[in-house]
Amino acid sequence: MAPFKRVLVANRGEIALRIIRACHEEGLEAVAVYSEADRLSPHVRSAHVAVPIGPPPAADSYLDIAKLLEAARATECQAVHPGYGFLSERAPFAEAVTQAGLTFIGPPATAIRAMGDKTEARRRMQAAGVPIVPGTTRPVADHVQAKSEAGRLGYPVLLKATAGGGGKGMRLIRDEGELESAFEGAQSEALKAFGAGELYVEKYLERPRHIEVQVLADTYGRVVALGERECSIQRRHQKLIEEAPSVAVTPALRRRLSEAATAAAGSVGYLGAGTIEFLLAPTGEFYFLEMNTRIQVEHPVTELVYGVDIVREQLRVAQGHPLRVHAGALQPRGHAIECRITAEDPFNDFLPATGVIRHLQPPSGPGVRWDGGVEAGNEVTLFYDPLLAKLIVWGDTRTTALQRMRRALRELVIVGLPTSQSFHLRVMDDAEFQRGDVDVTYLERVGQRLLAAELAPELAQPLAIAAALLAEEQRTKAALPPQPAARPPDGPSPWLLTVRRESIGG
Ligand code: ADP
Repeated sequence: MAPFKRVLVANRGEIALRIIRACHEEGLEAVAVYSEADRLSPHVRSAHVAVPIGPPPAADSYLDIAKLLEAARATECQAVHPGYGFLSERAPFAEAVTQAGLTFIGPPATAIRAMGDKTEARRRMQAAGVPIVPGTTRPVADHVQAKSEAGRLGYPVLLKATAGGGGKGMRLIRDEGELESAFEGAQSEALKAFGAGELYVEKYLERPRHIEVQVLADTYGRVVALGERECSIQRRHQKLIEEAPSVAVTPALRRRLSEAATAAAGSVGYLGAGTIEFLLAPTGEFYFLEMNTRIQVEHPVTELVYGVDIVREQLRVAQGHPLRVHAGALQPRGHAIECRITAEDPFNDFLPATGVIRHLQPPSGPGVRWDGGVEAGNEVTLFYDPLLAKLIVWGDTRTTALQRMRRALRELVIVGLPTSQSFHLRVMDDAEFQRGDVDVTYLERVGQRLLAAELAPELAQPLAIAAALLAEEQRTKAALPPQPAARPPDGPSPWLLTVRRESIGG
């Protein structure tokens, strides 16, 4: 744990840019890496130096440990920040970084390993006195054993992959007859995704909320909880909208959740930033779900209500500095909401969308934060996650934050490919969401209704503008040779058109 001056950012997109900005604010130099597909990405330009690491497929670039270490060596970095996704939760990567004499900005490999195996994590949590979802704490041998465990727990149950992540290898089973084929399906999916097909059985909770607690730990033995995030708005187990704090969490419940989270992190010798995920049942009981041993996509909502820069704390802890947050003073202030702006078509079953971003105008103004990773001219491909940017707002109350998010979503203009923007507008307009009456099944239940709903005229406006801009661009491109601009009935005056022509030298 020695101070460092230069950090290799082993990631791409919005999180790479987020980390580079934190490095600069900490007085550190940042080195970016990029695949051929990301040559023009903003994170490449904003870094001190940028190193090409290969062709677009992640396996040949962002997942290639040897190339990353070579980039760090060639640019004389002393530390590596893994971001999220890619290699961030792979213990062998943390080990390789350390063995190369560099600082891994994250927890020790032993903590990553302990939490990466879901059954081992469940055993450890049980030992630390943290409540876990009822179920097995060892993998089951086959579908016969799974059936007997499920019978003991009572249906419905979930089959889960011990190496799981991103909802892969997970199956809901409502009665015994479904178990055998679900077991085979989950096993082969897990084998394909993680190279390990082990499964375990967990009780399926009806309509829980997904509540997670942010923790920070330093080398002086301090483990601090930065309150909870409400992450129940999910599609196929993927979060879409997050908030802090949760309307379902009272100060007393927050204390209990924080105690459980700090005990969980402490029990694996945690260091840096991490998240303990819980399911909160309608009865008020909560259960450990898993720990993410890295920075999370939704960390900004916590930053806004706690006034802490989590990435800068990661950088400081990794250099052996004590945390700058004091547990006694930690109270959430106001309310923050994040919408993940993804390249997915909500009207086509959220199919990932590709194309060139023609125009991009992020919202701004009071209480608005845009953590983006793309700009106009960038091409969105299928090689990586569809997350383009995160739109985060803060307000003194939840109502203010909601109004602000509607306003900010209206200001956002993205032209060139479909995004989740219009769907977010619909969620913000939904009465159930506005009441905070949500659980992990919310989108499954109301998604179709939201898509069928007419948008309020003022909400539809930005989308119409985006469509018009795209149509205009296509029209202009098609019109060869250029036609003299005719004045539409309610268009700009001929005087304005003249000025514009002159200003572009035409
Ligand atoms: P992964 O690691 O694959 O993302 P998690 O265990 O974190 O899987 O669960 C992802 C989501 O699946 C949760 O946020 C929740 O919506 C749902 N889920 C997981 N376990 C249960 C459970 N026991 N009962 C009900 N829903 C669950």
